[in-house]
Amino acid sequence: MSGLAARLSEVDGRIAEAARQVGRDPGEITRIVVTKFHPASLVTELHSLGVRDVGENRQQELTAKRAELAAGGEPADEELRWHFIGQAQTKKSGAIRRAASAVHSVDRDRLADALHRASSGEPDDVLDVLLQVNLTDDPGRGGVQQGEAEALAEHVLGLDSLRLRGVMAVAPLDGDPAAAFAELRSVADRVRSLAPGADWISAGMTDDFPAAIAAGATHLRIGSAITGPRPDRG
Ligand SMILES: *Cc1c(COP(=O)(O)O)cnc(C)c1O
Repeated sequence: MSGLAARLSEVDGRIAEAARQVGRDPGEITRIVVTKFHPASLVTELHSLGVRDVGENRQQELTAKRAELAAGGEPADEELRWHFIGQAQTKKSGAIRRAASAVHSVDRDRLADALHRASSGEPDDVLDVLLQVNLTDDPGRGGVQQGEAEALAEHVLGLDSLRLRGVMAVAPLDGDPAAAFAELRSVADRVRSLAPGADWISAGMTDDFPAAIAAGATHLRIGSAITGPRPDRG
């Protein structure tokens, strides 16, 4: 077994165990492998190990990786769901929309509008989006403030080329991730009362995914525990 295969299976075992401990079915949890800064060849390897959800946080890197895989005739490109999990610049919305299957980081009306405007207009061109919620006191961190999440949800619900799927957050570096994820859970519940189909909770990374599972996370974004340390960003 390769190191990558061993780490993937170890993490999947830990996910299953964390789910069982809180009486959840591991089958209802999607493990997204975050491949940022790693070469496209790693994505191909993950695909051959059965991974179908990958995450990227920079538009240029996402677009370049998809182009490289597509040029190589890789089934990985078509068969994978590409989750965009990084801060999104409004002017990159068109490129993000073309490359991503889901955007986890919608945190302002203007970004939602720009993603909507980038739609082809075809009725089946619908993009899954999540609202990124800021769980820190620092407004400079990405994400909508908790108290403003419902207003943003209402705004997104008015844009017919976007499908509101739920909420996403990163736990603050300092502090208890369980407390942060409990706050996210309550925002998620309020958003779901506006849009019953918005039942995704994207939370949990290498260092805190068991706490996220306990708080109801449906989508984990796990990088280094599976891929190994990230190469320096270029
Ligand atoms: C990099 C990243 C992750 C994965 O981080 P790890 O600690 O390597 O698991 C998850 N979410 C976001 C938004 C990221 O940028």
